Amino acid sequence: MSRIETPRPIRGTQDIFGAEAEAFAFVVETFERVRKLYRFRRVEMPVFEKTEVFSRSLGETTDVVSKEMYSFDDRGGESLTLRPEFTAGIARAYLTDGWQQYAPLKVATHGPLFRYERPQKGRYRQFHQIDAEIIGAGEPQADVELLVMADQLLKELGIADGVTLQLNTLGDADSRDAWRVALVAYFESVRGELSEDSQDRLERNPLRILDSKDPRDKAFVADAPQIDDYLTPHAQDFYGRVTEGLDAAGVAWTRLPALVRGLDYYRHTAFEFVTDRLGAQGTVLGGGRYDGLMESLGGAPTPAVGWAAGIERLAMLVGERGEAVADVIVVVEDDALMDRGIATIAKLRRDGLSADLIASGSPRKRFDKAVKMGAEAIVSLSIRDGETRVSLRAEDQIRARVEGLIS
Ligand code: ATP
Ligand code: MG
Repeated sequence: MSRIETPRPIRGTQDIFGAEAEAFAFVVETFERVRKLYRFRRVEMPVFEKTEVFSRSLGETTDVVSKEMYSFDDRGGESLTLRPEFTAGIARAYLTDGWQQYAPLKVATHGPLFRYERPQKGRYRQFHQIDAEIIGAGEPQADVELLVMADQLLKELGIADGVTLQLNTLGDADSRDAWRVALVAYFESVRGELSEDSQDRLERNPLRILDSKDPRDKAFVADAPQIDDYLTPHAQDFYGRVTEGLDAAGVAWTRLPALVRGLDYYRHTAFEFVTDRLGAQGTVLGGGRYDGLMESLGGAPTPAVGWAAGIERLAMLVGERGEAVADVIVVVEDDALMDRGIATIAKLRRDGLSADLIASGSPRKRFDKAVKMGAEAIVSLSIRDGETRVSLRAEDQIRARVEGLIS
């Protein structure tokens, strides 16, 4: 007989189960609650888009576009890409679905994303994000609102300790251009000592050298020209109002002048919430202002700001969460009472009590099994001397309620 091999899961995907799945759900539920407090509207977005949605908005030379996208031609010969991030698709929808009429528009979503990366702890090929965006708002208050929301989320998840908000400004277009010229001049002078990747970035995207994880580059990043010397008065004022807003809201932050972020579309505010509790994958939440993005998709200039956070990384900080025990367990000790058991548990659940039914395996072991599960109440159905017996063993706080439902 030939043995059929079970297909293996795809490298970099995860099957999330049990206490880890509970932590994952806790992150999503907490995010849903917080986004309602901040009045962000929920959106559901397609998992794939035309490839150009990402290549044009993220920038051809970014790591994500140049080496991490899952792109393929569909049966009609069109190049499609599994979304590597949310922002570009949301920006596309803003333009194609007439969402301009709702500006300023606050939206939130969550779901799976796909990047062809080297899988390791905290880094997967299918991962999940929560995401929040404010589109059509050019004022620094929008940046502040998003940052205060992120801060509250981390606190409500109970993981804010040891997580730091690192903040930077990339300035407006003029500041950025002047800084860029200075960076090119500086890195040209040490070109031979940079990593091969960074030598390449020097031509295509010098800012990204600041984001390099290669130790050869890091040595020079420390002494690189800083954005502060190139900020226009407008950019300085904008940044000042963001930090004042954060102080007013009581959100702690630290300045990190070398923080750039890996995508082309950022302007002014850029930020990351980082921790040293996750090893190399320490960035849990990142975002910034992307005033230039809409134009790259053929729209009118539209200011916008947003952030995204990896659910897996947040869930790792949350730690394993126990699966809740049932309020009630219904034990059918005699198979003749199966329908009575089904009716009883349906009634309990319709009243809002969580309940499990134990009605299989050896009848004599069913009650012991229920006791081991540690529910607040056990209802057992048995037949003694030809009579149906319904007995209840319950904690005080739930007894009366269950009694009312089963009598
Ligand atoms: P990193 O520097 O870790 O590669 P990034 O800058 O590429 O992160 P973003 O594109 O800003 O990440 O995505 C926002 C968040 O999504 C990250 O802070 C992280 O929590 C999460 N994230 C990004 N890529 C992955 C991945 N491959 N696996 C798991 N989580 C990820
Ligand atoms: Mg990355």
